[in-house]
Amino acid sequence: MKVRRTLSEMTPYVAGERRKNALKLSSNENPLGPSPRAIEAVRSALDESHIYPDGALTDLRAAIAASVGVTPDMIIPGNGSDEVLTMIAGTYFNPGDRVVIGEHTFSQYAFAARLFDTRITRVPMPNLRLEPDSILTAAGVSGAQNRGEQSAMTSDPAAQTTAAAARAVFICTPNNPTGIAFTRSELQHVLDAVPSDTLVVVDHAYQEYAEDPQTADAGALVRDYPNLIVLRTFSKIYGLAAARVGYGIAHPDRVSEIDRVRLPFNVNGLAQAAAIAALGDDAFVQRSLETNRAGKRRIYALLRELGFDPLPTEANFVCFQVNGDAKRAAETIAEHGVTVRALNSFGLPNHLRVTIGTDEQIDVLEGGLRAIAAPK
Ligand SMILES: *Cc1c(COP(=O)(O)O)cnc(C)c1O
Repeated sequence: MKVRRTLSEMTPYVAGERRKNALKLSSNENPLGPSPRAIEAVRSALDESHIYPDGALTDLRAAIAASVGVTPDMIIPGNGSDEVLTMIAGTYFNPGDRVVIGEHTFSQYAFAARLFDTRITRVPMPNLRLEPDSILTAAGVSGAQNRGEQSAMTSDPAAQTTAAAARAVFICTPNNPTGIAFTRSELQHVLDAVPSDTLVVVDHAYQEYAEDPQTADAGALVRDYPNLIVLRTFSKIYGLAAARVGYGIAHPDRVSEIDRVRLPFNVNGLAQAAAIAALGDDAFVQRSLETNRAGKRRIYALLRELGFDPLPTEANFVCFQVNGDAKRAAETIAEHGVTVRALNSFGLPNHLRVTIGTDEQIDVLEGGLRAIAAPK
C-alpha cells in the first residue's frame, strides 16, 4: 500500500539499548526506580480498572498546576511529553510550514513536524551548543542575519529562500544528548526576538536536574509569552517512564487549542494515579537529585582520569567524545555489563551519552569506561 510521501522521510525512533543481564544506562531513566508512593497508588487504582478514567484529567491537571505554580487551565497532559509534541504539531502545523530544530537534539521534534508535512530548518551547533542568534537566523527573524553569525543550514533548499518566519522553534534545555542548558538571558533573548505567531517550544525534560542557577526555567515565563509552550515529563526524575505521562505548560488559550486534538482518554487511569502520587513524593525527588549530584561528580572524575573531556551537563547524563566509532565503544562497554547510548543517530558518530547511575551502577560502568580509554 502506498503511504503518505512524508513517511518515507521519517526514520524509526532509535531507543536506548536494553540487553539481558546488562544494566541500562542508555535512556536516562531514574536509577532509583519509580517513586514508592506511585507504586502504591497504582496498586490501589487497579481496583478501578473497569471504569474509564477521568477524560478531563481534572485531578492530574490540578496536582501538576499546584506543583508548577500555575493554574490548571495552563496544563495539557499527554501520554508522555512525546504525545504533547505530536498534539502541538497537529494543532498548529500546516503542510509546508517551517520549523526550526537544533542539529544535535532529541528526535521527536522532527518526528512530530514531519508527520504533519512540515519543512525543517536545522540549526548548526558549533561546539555542540545551540546559540540563540543561530536559532533566530534559522527562524527568519530579520536583524539576526546581520549580526555576523553563520547562516543556518537547511535540509530543504526551498526553505532558504523563504522569507516567512518559522511556525515554531524547538529548544531542548538542558539539551538531550549534550546536557548543555540555555541560560535565562539566552532564552529571554529568543522569546523577545521571535514574532508573536512563532511558537517557542521549550523541552524541559531534564530541568529538575539543573544545578547552575543561571539555567533558564521557562515555566515561570509562560504568563508573559502566549507563544511559549514548556514541556515537562514524569519519565525522568519521577521515575515513571513506563507509565507514559508528560505535560505542556502554556497560556490557557494554547491549552484549549491543543485540547481539541487530544484523544478522550490519552492518559490512562493507572498513569494518572501514579503521576499524582509521584508529585507528592518530595523525598523521592530529593533522593534522586542527590544520587545524580554524587554520580555526576564521580563520572566526571573518572572520565577525566581516563583522558576524556565530558561536556558540562545540567541533566542526568554525561556526553563525551570517544576514540573512534561510538557504536563500537558502546558495544565494548555493553560487554562489561552496561548499555550506554552511542550518538550516531543524533549526528554525533564519535560521542557517547551515559545516564548517571547509582554508585553500584557506576562501579560496573567504570570497568567499561576503562576498557574504551586510550592506552596511556
Ligand atoms: C526523555 C525525554 C523526554 C520524555 O519523553 P516522554 O514521552 O515524556 O517519556 C522528552 N524530551 C526529551 C529531550 C527527553 O530526553
